Amino acid sequence: MKVTAIPAFRDNYVWAIHDDRSAILVDPGEAAPILAWLETQQLHPVAILVTHHHADHVGGIREITARQAIPVYAPGNEAIFGRTHPLLGGETVVIAELGLAFQVLATPGHTLGHLGYFGHGALFCGDTLFSCGCGRLFEGTPAQMHASLSRIKALPADTLIYCAHEYTRANLDFALAVEPDNPALHKRLEEVRELRGQGKPTLPVSLSTELACNPFLRCDEPSVAAAAARHANHPIQPGLATFATLRAWKDEC
Ligand SMILES: [Zn+2]
Repeated sequence: MKVTAIPAFRDNYVWAIHDDRSAILVDPGEAAPILAWLETQQLHPVAILVTHHHADHVGGIREITARQAIPVYAPGNEAIFGRTHPLLGGETVVIAELGLAFQVLATPGHTLGHLGYFGHGALFCGDTLFSCGCGRLFEGTPAQMHASLSRIKALPADTLIYCAHEYTRANLDFALAVEPDNPALHKRLEEVRELRGQGKPTLPVSLSTELACNPFLRCDEPSVAAAAARHANHPIQPGLATFATLRAWKDEC
């Protein structure tokens, strides 16, 4: 299984999962760069996986499926053009052309129907998790997002996380404000500076790196709960309360 980032808009990545004939497109927000890439690579699309309904994740579906009717797997409880397979989490998506299967994870928070697709050591997490950050709570509650992130934390540590946006550099500033003395963050900052300097994506990133760096996955750590308490100016329990405080703090930044 090869995975290639197709850059879209300003900072989106459409992930293409492919071999040398066929490609699955994850969150095709914009048709033009995807169609150009498929043409250059001489690949044909066989399926679309959608994590949530936001326009920058679904905007290309109409044009891509107009050329060829292919299955569109997407949240069943969100309005998504062209959806052929409504999903709610707990299903397995099998893409026969590539011999691949993905477990569907319900990850509400950023939106209520948000899904992740996990298989073959990879998680396509849309806007739930970013490197050193997490999605904004447009529809869900802190408790829903905290539970979704806990579900992701339980995956194997060597899972590669394919996020839908290149937000890592900016997220690191916030992560360092929370944990200025975390050595894993300083290491990741160096790595990210080098990758961005070469114009390369900072993704995928391993779950183990995120567990060491991402404050939103580290809400049980005393150092993170203490930072949340300092910001709020009153004691904050580790876990959900720390998560809710961090999310609100980041929204102010
Ligand atoms: Zn979104």
